[in-house]
Amino acid sequence: MTTHQALHKYFGYNEFRHEQEAIITHVLNQQDAMVLMPTGGGKSICYQLPAVMFDGLTVVISPLIALMKDQVDALNINGINAAFLNSSQNDNEQREIVKQLKANQIKLLYLAPERLFSSESRLIDFLKTLKVSLIAIDEAHCISHWGHDFRPEYLMLAGLKISFPNIPVIALTATADKITRKDILDKLKLNNPREFVSSFDRKNINYRISPKKNSFNQLLTFLDEHKDDSGIIYCLSRQSTENLASELRSQGYSAEAYHAGLDKATKDKNQEAFLRDEVKIIVATIAFGMGINKSNVRFVVHMDMPKNIEGYYQETGRAGRDGLPSKALLFFSYGDFEKLKGFAKVEGNEEQSKIMLKKLDDIVTFCQLQTCRRQFLLRYFDEQAPDNCGQCDVCLSEYEKIDGTIIAQKAFSAIARLGESFGMGYVIDLLRGSKNEKLRDQHKQLKTYGIGADISKADWQQYIRELIARGYIRTEGDPYPVLKLNPIATDVLKGFQRVQLTQSQTLQQEQVAEVMP
Ligand code: ADP
Ligand code: ZN
Repeated sequence: MTTHQALHKYFGYNEFRHEQEAIITHVLNQQDAMVLMPTGGGKSICYQLPAVMFDGLTVVISPLIALMKDQVDALNINGINAAFLNSSQNDNEQREIVKQLKANQIKLLYLAPERLFSSESRLIDFLKTLKVSLIAIDEAHCISHWGHDFRPEYLMLAGLKISFPNIPVIALTATADKITRKDILDKLKLNNPREFVSSFDRKNINYRISPKKNSFNQLLTFLDEHKDDSGIIYCLSRQSTENLASELRSQGYSAEAYHAGLDKATKDKNQEAFLRDEVKIIVATIAFGMGINKSNVRFVVHMDMPKNIEGYYQETGRAGRDGLPSKALLFFSYGDFEKLKGFAKVEGNEEQSKIMLKKLDDIVTFCQLQTCRRQFLLRYFDEQAPDNCGQCDVCLSEYEKIDGTIIAQKAFSAIARLGESFGMGYVIDLLRGSKNEKLRDQHKQLKTYGIGADISKADWQQYIRELIARGYIRTEGDPYPVLKLNPIATDVLKGFQRVQLTQSQTLQQEQVAEVMP
């Protein structure tokens, strides 16, 4: 049987998508692989199809016990003998599966990582007595601290290559930036792996960021355009999911909450109702969504700023799996940034804190972007993208431009007076005439001290980021970048050149406030 025939016979599809075929061929050649594909891209077939073509057993490591049953049921319906072993089963059920495994009757076995290595079951030793053809590690980013969903039990998977040195391993994930990707490869000790990176572009998703001001009213206006559509609304705290769900219900919307603190029965009930379209809106923490395969989600809203781009991209990626136009709306405030900064600091792990803060910084940059959001997102995942997608809020709207020459001159002269040796925060403190004791006394004597007090900290951040993006200022040094002037900044200082800047966030917010009732 060819791979095409198997695709048709077992999965009912006529064509491979993305790089599925290349990945499957590689795996069938018993080579290790790492697969990056966006959510909904079709990762499962990359190991399920080799599983039916190989003689022996394919072991699938998956983090979520709750989803194993669905996956196994779907395979069984397609005539593929699959099973899972987990704590939800009684002894008899487990014994039956062990029997079938011994008889080589099962093609795919789903397991949680902790199960594989737990001392009482030592499942790994039993598996060694079987003919294992392939090991698939789903949601592989869970092994990395740098990913957005680190799960300590995934670290045990480092032992897989020791137990099964000659069995091909395929690691799959929908979210991994460069550093996470490298970490996955290091930790799993894959053997000369090939990386398959699919395009992450979700062309049917429209990205929009709005200032977090009157966000509930803004949300109602937004939902008004989405009557009867299914959507997910993410909140940072458990309490706010419940509050918002009930406020939406009182406005006549069909909405339920979902977070890790709810009892299992309630969670299952709400999730099921959402999947079956009996509930239209799920208001959730990020605990909701991994592995959820609902094709007609029309919108994803973030009421609060997410912690990093990867999480944001994965969460928004749950919209529009059916390919129809869908929306991603995020409410941004500088206050959320300050709040999340507190969470990003990991006690006793400076390296990790540093990376978390960097990621937080990246998403702030994304929120404050004056250039195409899609381009930024794709570049974040190392993909090239045109300057204008024609489909995000920035590309669709002309932000008001202002003459920013004086603002720029103030910033440049502060940077120059500080000898181009200080970071953005310090420069802004100086401009705003901050009483902050971190500000050195000699700097409080400078002429530039306080010349930018009329502009808020958040606005200064936006202006300086834009001046960086426009090439007047550059940053140097890691992890504490300092601001340096590029030669064209001197022309501006001398008055030879004028600077255009995008209207500040505060001004934009005031406009939003005006249109709100
Ligand atoms: P992921 O795990 O990457 O999020 P899935 O493996 O769940 O994605 O696949 C997403 C959807 O796309 C599923 O409904 C799946 O059946 C479908 N799909 C996968 N491969 C193909 C294909 N080659 N042709 C058509 N549909 C496919
Ligand atoms: Zn765009």
